[in-house]
Amino acid sequence: MFASLELPNVRPVCPACGSRFRQTRAGKTLYGDQRYQCQDCKRYYSMHNRRYRYPEDVRRKAVNLREAGCSLRQIAQQLAVNHQTVSNWVKMGGVGR
Ligand SMILES: [Zn+2]
Repeated sequence: MFASLELPNVRPVCPACGSRFRQTRAGKTLYGDQRYQCQDCKRYYSMHNRRYRYPEDVRRKAVNLREAGCSLRQIAQQLAVNHQTVSNWVKMGGVGR
């Protein structure tokens, strides 16, 4: 019964095993988000799913490759990112800079 009184974002839930218990803070991610470790499955995760997970220079490289005439799939392969992601970057970004 006390479980229903908990605020939903106060306690982190492990995305891997779904455990809500024994979630400990484990420093920060590269992007400054709070990182947690699940003591049940020992995985690390962070609570925030930021839209832009990739560093700026990877994005720039993608845009450059696109301007050089590579296909989205080629770029995606080369940079090891999803081709949809590359497509978004190209749309947001490159032309005119
Ligand atoms: Zn877990």
